Amino acid sequence: VKSNSLIVVSNRLPFVLKKNEDGTMYRQASAGGLVTAVAPVVIKGKGQWVGWPGLHLPSDYNDENLPESDPSDQTPTAGLKSKQVVTVNMDPDLFEAYYNGCCNGTHWPLFHSMPGRAIFSADHWRAYVAANKLFADKTIQAIERCTKDPQNPGIPIVWIHDYHLMLCANYIREKAEEKNLQFQLAFFLHIPFPPWDIFRLFPWSDEILQGMLACDMVGFHIRDYCINFVDCCQRNLGCRVDRKNLLVEHGGRSVRVRPLPIGIPYDRFVELARSAKKVIKTKQKVILGVDRLDYTKGLVNRLKAFEILLEKHPEHRGNVSFLQISVPSRTDVLEYQQLKEEMDQLVGRINGRFSTAVWAPIRYIFGCVGQSELAAYYRDAAVALVTPLRDGMNLVAKEFVACQINEPPGVLIVSPFAGAGETMHEALLCNPYEIGAAAEVIHRALTMPEDERSLRMSRLRRREMEHDVNHWMRSFLKAMGSGLEEDDIGT
Ligand code: UDP
Repeated sequence: VKSNSLIVVSNRLPFVLKKNEDGTMYRQASAGGLVTAVAPVVIKGKGQWVGWPGLHLPSDYNDENLPESDPSDQTPTAGLKSKQVVTVNMDPDLFEAYYNGCCNGTHWPLFHSMPGRAIFSADHWRAYVAANKLFADKTIQAIERCTKDPQNPGIPIVWIHDYHLMLCANYIREKAEEKNLQFQLAFFLHIPFPPWDIFRLFPWSDEILQGMLACDMVGFHIRDYCINFVDCCQRNLGCRVDRKNLLVEHGGRSVRVRPLPIGIPYDRFVELARSAKKVIKTKQKVILGVDRLDYTKGLVNRLKAFEILLEKHPEHRGNVSFLQISVPSRTDVLEYQQLKEEMDQLVGRINGRFSTAVWAPIRYIFGCVGQSELAAYYRDAAVALVTPLRDGMNLVAKEFVACQINEPPGVLIVSPFAGAGETMHEALLCNPYEIGAAAEVIHRALTMPEDERSLRMSRLRRREMEHDVNHWMRSFLKAMGSGLEEDDIGT
């Protein structure tokens, strides 16, 4: 089998470039699960990675000057040579309108079914189009690099990621066909795909669908998002669709739509949980929340549910505390600043209401914690509260169960509006909009018998172990019919 090389196209490269004081640059690698699974396949298949390097480079910047990874770098991207990287640079104003404007100001809320928060701006949309064209031009360079490499006989698979780049495939297909380049095109959306009724609010929704349908395969986390997409293709564009087999006819091609639920680097989290030092030293049971501070995460409702728990079940006062880790996110956007204010006030009010000389109900960390410390929190928490209003998947739910190595284990509570709620059947479900009922679910988790906890947790853990991020990577390559499989993944 001729193996294909993989060309990944994502808004961000798997590392960011940083400047030393003397002006030279170095790479700072990302340690996320996605990078861990995908980078080895790109490296071994002599592929390419196209993306923004995390800082604005001069317009005449040449990728030949890109630094190699530091020799001490042990991260998965260490073996990614600079000749396998194509940087996308754009004018800072264009980037602002594309990224903060269209991606985070429009697509993020709309795709999370919160259209009231979405700003519809023609200027931002124009910037999004221009940015996607830039990414497409750079991807053509990457395809040409792969095609010219004599060691690379297979047809490259171009894999575009996420809501930043939904138009990119269309421009790539046009240009690559003009140049007679051979390629396969795939797209994966890491956030939900909304129902037609929400999606069609976007004035340029047809263009987005056409952009995605330029691919041979389009992947989403769960079947519901696939169905929403197929539905939109039929109702917006009039495409012929096959709902059972998830196929959409477009431009004389048949586009495959696939549910590919992402997993986590399970073994890494188990290992971290085994070696992490204890950080929770209180005797009280800890209810844990870990989220970016984002309005989709349902944090305000979660605090209110905890308040009602203390009101209705006073036996938990003094015996339970709620630890919320909120990671700062998009802090230059007004809505996120307002959310921070609201959270600060609510934490203060609830703590003021219930605290005693020896106990405070809520501990609130506004900041990042290291991976090992995070694993210790996951391991020693009695309950994890994963209650987003809407979430594409939610990795925190999966990382929590991977780290639950203690017997008897704790309890996972998850929202049915997260992708994780769809697959993690043994978790307790909790509708974050129903605050009083949510308080009762927390009470049930805190009082659940040990044997029920063990049974639920062991099933949750087994599923995440089997369906880890390497499994996701393999499923993707299998869906593309690639020769790049078993050997290249899971290292
Ligand atoms: N995370 C982190 N540092 C922290 C807290 C969380 O790196 O201080 C990570 C966490 O391990 C998880 C990710 O952030 O992998 C959050 O992913 P999730 O899918 O839950 O939500 P997203 O932020 O992508 O919406």
